[in-house]
Amino acid sequence: MPGSFIDKAKITVRAGDGGNGCVSFHREKYVAAGGPDGGDGGQGGHIILQVDDNLSTLMDFRYKRKYVAENGVDGMGARKSGRDGKSLTIRVPRGTLVRDAGTNEIIKDMSGDEPFILCRGGKGGWGNSHFATPTRQAPRFAKSGMPGEGQEVVLELKLLADVGLVGFPNVGKSTLLSVVSRAQPKIANYHFTTLYPNLGVVYVEDGVSFVMADIPGIIEGASEGAGLGHDFLRHIDRCRLLVHVVDVSGSEGRDPVADFDAINLELKQYSPELAQRPQIVAANKADIMEDSALLERLREHVEQLGYPLYTISAAAHQGVRELVFAVANRLKELPPVAVYEPEYVRRPPKVDMSQPLEITVEDGVYLVEGPWLQRLISNTNFSDYESRAWFDKLLRESGLFDRLEAMGIRDGDLVSLYDMEFEYQR
Ligand code: GDP
Ligand code: MG
Repeated sequence: MPGSFIDKAKITVRAGDGGNGCVSFHREKYVAAGGPDGGDGGQGGHIILQVDDNLSTLMDFRYKRKYVAENGVDGMGARKSGRDGKSLTIRVPRGTLVRDAGTNEIIKDMSGDEPFILCRGGKGGWGNSHFATPTRQAPRFAKSGMPGEGQEVVLELKLLADVGLVGFPNVGKSTLLSVVSRAQPKIANYHFTTLYPNLGVVYVEDGVSFVMADIPGIIEGASEGAGLGHDFLRHIDRCRLLVHVVDVSGSEGRDPVADFDAINLELKQYSPELAQRPQIVAANKADIMEDSALLERLREHVEQLGYPLYTISAAAHQGVRELVFAVANRLKELPPVAVYEPEYVRRPPKVDMSQPLEITVEDGVYLVEGPWLQRLISNTNFSDYESRAWFDKLLRESGLFDRLEAMGIRDGDLVSLYDMEFEYQR
């Protein structure tokens, strides 16, 4: 449905790879043996997320699904480092949840202003000038750059609003929002006019304001996925307070009490927690009310359940200020808008160790390389004890140490695995 509201998207992101280190020796006329001068590879660019308040949907992600940051440039002679790859900043609307596509765990709630590094660029490899020591004056090796992190993520927009409007279609939610804020939602006298959630800032008095969200009307059966509404309920997940709009005019032959209960049942089926959210009832269209008995029945019903009720006419601007003040006062007592905690932890990758590692000895250094080792290192968090233990265990299982022994390695010899080095200890 082109032009429709897009509030969920799956994208693939990949940070840049690190550039390779360079093997090079200083050359100059009349200078006999130049020293090693290979420069380091540049760092790969990151994938960065940033909130942009000019965006209100995830529309852009419908057509562009792959995001790749620039690779680092390889090192060069004369100790010239390769340039770092440019990071790629992806702009998202405020309130975008980023989830791992595989596990659905929350990686980040993009509701603040700080940029977030979603994928780190690979480190650049060291050039051979790094490996020169008094006893190793002409190292003929350098390191490859590390691969950048990559991931498939789901972006999901959950609006950041203090107040969510709920109620059947056509009861006057959009009208109310347009009257209390400067938002200009579509208003029309037929059901399902609202296809897009709308946000409006309601200024109450000096220094007091709140954000109100109008979502497409809930219809019965929405929580079971019937028609519109179910998907849109996520936009009020964060709201601190719900304003439940009910049409009490009787003009459409509706029963306000039955409507009120039906909506609350829908909320409960979608999320029991959302159904517990504080509510203020707005009995709307009082200007064309034919029979005040409907209103009084509703009032009795909701007050018994502990909800305050305000009689209004959104269209005629009646009772609206009182409602706005009641909302603002209630908000003062309520906790701030929910921000979701990250759940995702980067797991050690599954590695297929069937491909043997390549071991070469250069100037007494045991250089170990292989695609799975490179992947393992770039995905291991070496500051975390468990990850490190896991890394050691895999290396042992791969038979690396037995092979090094067979090649005659001695205690104190240097083993070099990409960007890590250690002295061998039996
Ligand atoms: P929503 O679907 O809940 O967003 O409802 P809308 O705000 O689009 O309003 C639906 C229809 O009801 C429109 O024709 C409005 O002009 C009308 N309406 C909204 N509020 C009032 C009101 O207080 N009094 C009267 N008479 N009509 C209203
Ligand atoms: Mg509407």
